[in-house]
Amino acid sequence: MAKIRVLPETLSNKIAAGEVVERPASVVKELLENSLDAASTRIIIEVEKGGQSLIQVSDNGVGMRPDDARLAIERYATSKISSVDDLFSIQTLGFRGEALPSIASVSRFSLITRDKSSDAGTEVIVEGGNVKSVSEVGAPPGTMVSVKQLFFNTPARKKFLKTVGTEMSHIAGTVARVALGHPAVQFRLVHNRKAVKSWPHVSRHLDRIVDVLGKDLKSDLHAIELKQNGLSISGWIGSPRITRRTSRGLYIFVNDRFVRDRTIQHGVFKGFAQRLVKGQFPIAVVFIKIPFDQVDVNVHPTKNEVRFVNPRQVHEAVKSAIAQTLYEIDRVSWRPANGSQRPESQDASTVAEPMTSYTPPGSVTLPSKQAKFAYTESDSRQPATDDWQPATTRHPPEAGSQEPLFDSKGFSALRVVGQLHGTYIVCESDAGLVLIDHHAAHERILFEQLQRRAADQQAAAQQLVVPETIELNFREAEILGQMLSDLKTLGLAVEPFGKNTFVIKAVPALLSGRDVKPMIYEIVEKTAAAGYSAGLKDVLDECRMVMACHGALRARQALTGKQIEKLLRQLDACDHPSHCPHGRPTWVRWDLATLEKSFKRVL
Ligand code: ADP
Ligand code: MG
Repeated sequence: MAKIRVLPETLSNKIAAGEVVERPASVVKELLENSLDAASTRIIIEVEKGGQSLIQVSDNGVGMRPDDARLAIERYATSKISSVDDLFSIQTLGFRGEALPSIASVSRFSLITRDKSSDAGTEVIVEGGNVKSVSEVGAPPGTMVSVKQLFFNTPARKKFLKTVGTEMSHIAGTVARVALGHPAVQFRLVHNRKAVKSWPHVSRHLDRIVDVLGKDLKSDLHAIELKQNGLSISGWIGSPRITRRTSRGLYIFVNDRFVRDRTIQHGVFKGFAQRLVKGQFPIAVVFIKIPFDQVDVNVHPTKNEVRFVNPRQVHEAVKSAIAQTLYEIDRVSWRPANGSQRPESQDASTVAEPMTSYTPPGSVTLPSKQAKFAYTESDSRQPATDDWQPATTRHPPEAGSQEPLFDSKGFSALRVVGQLHGTYIVCESDAGLVLIDHHAAHERILFEQLQRRAADQQAAAQQLVVPETIELNFREAEILGQMLSDLKTLGLAVEPFGKNTFVIKAVPALLSGRDVKPMIYEIVEKTAAAGYSAGLKDVLDECRMVMACHGALRARQALTGKQIEKLLRQLDACDHPSHCPHGRPTWVRWDLATLEKSFKRVL
C-alpha cells in the first residue's frame, strides 16, 4: 500500500498558514496588501483584543464579482499573475494566491465584496477552512474582510501569541510601514472601537513620513535622490545627530514593498560612514525603484525579502545617494538649525548635544537668533575624493523638506573664548555657544589631508634620521609584508629586515616626532581583523584613521591662539568637518534659547 498521500486542501492551507500567518500583524499585512493591489484610496483597519478576537480590513478598491469572490479563498487562486513569465516581473504586492485561504483556514473568516459594475455584493463565510455559505448581500463597492478568533483551531499557534499590547504594537508597526510607502492612501487604525491612528491622504510624501516617524524629526530629515543604471533611489534620511539604538529606524522599500534586506542596510551604513559611532543606527526611509525583472520577490512566503540580479549596483546606489546628501548637509549643519527643543530625541542625541535636550519644566520655546551671513569662499570647494559621488547630478530636495537652515562663515568665524580642561575649545557663535573637541577635529583634518594626498599620489614623507625596527609575530609579519606598497602610498616607508622584523624608514610628515611603532602595531591589528586585500579602499582608510588618530593633538593639551586659529581654518577646509573619522562629533553647541532657559531668564 502506498504510504504517500495527497493532503486534503484544508490541511495544506493550514500548513501554508504556518508560514504566512505568524501572528495577527501578518494577517493585517496580507489584507492591506490586497487592498492596495485593488487600488484602494481609503483603508480602515479595525482590531479587537490585539487582533485575537477581530481583524477587519475594509477598503474602497475595485472589489470582486461573485465568481471571483468564491475563487479568492481557493489555494493558488490569484488575479495577479497567470504565467511563469509573470513571476519574473511582479508588479503587485501579492502574487502567491495563498493569503486568503491560509487566513481562512485558521480563523472564522468572512469576505464581503462588490465590484462597481455589480448591483449587489457577495458574502463568503469560511470557518477553519470550510466554506459555510456564499450569498448575495447589500454592500458598498469595495471589500471588507473580517477575521475572527484567529488560531481558534490551531491551539499550538494560539499559545505563542503575546499580550494584547505586544500584538497591537506589531499591528501598529505593520500599518505604519505600509502607510510610509503609500502617502496617497488614507489609513485609519481602530483598536477596541477607539481610533488609534489616522493618516489622511497627503500629496507630499514627506508629510506622511513626518506623520509616521514623528513631527520632532521634521527639521532633521534630509532628502536623498539619485538615478543611475536604471535604478532610482529616493527618500529621506535623519541627520547623523539623531540616531537610534537599533535598526528599527530603517525603512527600506523596493518597488513600494517594505523589505528587510542586508545588502541595502549595509549600503545605508556605508553612506553614513564615519558619522556614527559603534552601536548607533541611523534613521532612513529609502525607496528603491528597480526594473521588475531585476528583482526576485518570490523568495519567502511573507514576501518580505527580495533578491537582486545585481546587488552590488543597488548597494552602491543607496550608499552614494546617502553620502551625497550627507556631504551637502555637513557643510551647513553644524550650526543650530532652529534652536528648537527635541525632548523626544533626548536619549538619541545625548552624545552630540547633551544640553539641548534639557528643558526646564513649563518652559516655552523662544525663536532663536538667526545668523544672516552666507557661505563665502568655502562652498565652491570640491570634495577631494569623489569616488562616491553619483554619476548624475542631484535633484533639489523636495521644497520644505528642511527647516530653514542658517548659513555661516564657517568655523573660523567663531570667536574663540578659550580652552576647557585642555580638551575643548570654547567658542561664541552668533547663535550661542560652541565647544570643539580639538582631538576629534584634528583627527578629521589629518584624515582628510591623508586622503587628499592619496588622491594626488604624493604622500609627503619624512625620512627618519634613525630608522626604527619593529618585531612582529608570524601572522602579523605576513600581513605587514603584503601591505608595504600600499603603506608607501600613505607616506609610510617600511621595509623587510629579515624574518619577522621590519625597518621603518620614513613616516608621513604629519607624524614626525611621534612614536610610530604603536601605530604600526595598530594598523596591522586592525587590518588583520578586517581582512586584507591589497589596495582595498576600506583598509587604506582604516590605516589613515589610525595615522590621523596617532598624529592628532592629544586631549589635555594647551593650545596657543595661533594653533586654534589654524585648526578652525583647517576644519573649514574639510569635506566632512562635523565628525571625526570614527563618527564622533567634532563639535557640540548650545543655542542661546537653551542657555536662557537653563538660567530661567525665560520660562
Ligand atoms: P494574492 O494576493 O497573492 O493574489 P490572496 O489570497 O491574498 O492572493 O488573494 C486572492 C485574490 O483575491 C487576489 O488575487 C485578488 O484578486 C482577490 N482579492 C483579495 N483581496 C482583495 C481586495 N481587498 N480587493 C479586491 N480583490 C481582492
Ligand atoms: Mg494577497
